[in-house]
Amino acid sequence: MAKGKKGPRQAFGLKCSVCGMFNYITQRNKINTPEKLKLRKYCKTCRKPTEHKESSKLK
Ligand SMILES: [Zn+2]
Repeated sequence: MAKGKKGPRQAFGLKCSVCGMFNYITQRNKINTPEKLKLRKYCKTCRKPTEHKESSKLK
């Protein structure tokens, strides 16, 4: 159990930049990766790979 565990790793949602749907949840180490993530991933709403941007909200 990771209850109350704090560290540089933070969970982020990955949001499709085309339709705005949350498709993935990922983790990022703030120390190793200070910049925002931008990934090309498949979006099932757009039904094609789109650019996904990091968003701190997980809903
Ligand atoms: Zn999409």
